[in-house]
Amino acid sequence: MPFDPLNEIKKLGNPEHFNYEEVPCYLCGNSTSEKFLVGEEDLTGKEGRFLYVKCSGCGLVYQNPRLPVSQIKSFYDSEYIAHRKKKNWGILTPLYEWAMSKHDRDKVQLVKKYVQLNEHTKVMDVGCAVGTFLLHLQKKHKSHISGVDFKEGLNFPGFDQISFYEGLFHEQNLPENHFDLVTMWHFFEHDYNPVDTLKQARKILKKEGKLIIEVPRLDSFTFRLFGNKWPGVQAPQHTALYSKKTIVEMVEKNGFKVEQYLPYGAFPPYFYIFTGTYFRMFGKGLNLDRIIFPYFTGQLLLTPVLLLQKYLNLSMQTVICRPN
Ligand SMILES: [Zn+2]
Repeated sequence: MPFDPLNEIKKLGNPEHFNYEEVPCYLCGNSTSEKFLVGEEDLTGKEGRFLYVKCSGCGLVYQNPRLPVSQIKSFYDSEYIAHRKKKNWGILTPLYEWAMSKHDRDKVQLVKKYVQLNEHTKVMDVGCAVGTFLLHLQKKHKSHISGVDFKEGLNFPGFDQISFYEGLFHEQNLPENHFDLVTMWHFFEHDYNPVDTLKQARKILKKEGKLIIEVPRLDSFTFRLFGNKWPGVQAPQHTALYSKKTIVEMVEKNGFKVEQYLPYGAFPPYFYIFTGTYFRMFGKGLNLDRIIFPYFTGQLLLTPVLLLQKYLNLSMQTVICRPN
């Protein structure tokens, strides 16, 4: 009998109120697959076990069945790290703030290599959350900043500087042939409509514009190390787990050409090393207040490895694409 994801997920003992919808492969449209892994929401420790399958047609690993959009929203509550506003971490506050702003600085550094950033550059960040990357970009290069996020009620000092669109990216009415750069930092692996997203990005970008996508990399060292406790699984939010092969095929099948592939991103691989180790040792549910000191200590100890992160294929990948 062929593998039946809907039947399989019923064996996982999830809450009764979960509904599921089956999805064909986002990349090739095939509906036959094999079981890949069972993932959980290890970061916040929320209830639920979710199924990832590997498409028999193209090898894409994706969540199937998935929760409907109406039910996924509760997994993006205020504890979700990307939406978190800065808060007080006691003596470690400056270190925490430095680490958070370093992430934004690293994004700008990465982007700068491929796109000229100045007061004429028009940038759209998809899944912008509270917009710290955009605000840093504007401060540094005076660029025009726009962002979209489906999270409601976002706020942050300076947030009003952003041309902000609330809702799903592909449903927005945006100017065509308008942007020089569209960025997706850890958005694409959450996307319920990745093909529509790429279509929209293609439409709003200028001919010479660039699309930059960073996602976790399935065929990476940390996935091999942690398996279903790999922080890149992050179920049920992550709808697909892309390898180098499948992310390249995904963008190239949908109107883009990959100009440059990077086996790293702006996101710190150390976060995956630390949290993956934590989930393996202590199970799910990470209490940031309790782990922040060991977090920075470990980072210090691993400095020699982290200095080589661009060469080690630890956890992330980035594609720099142009409209084809
Ligand atoms: Zn497929």
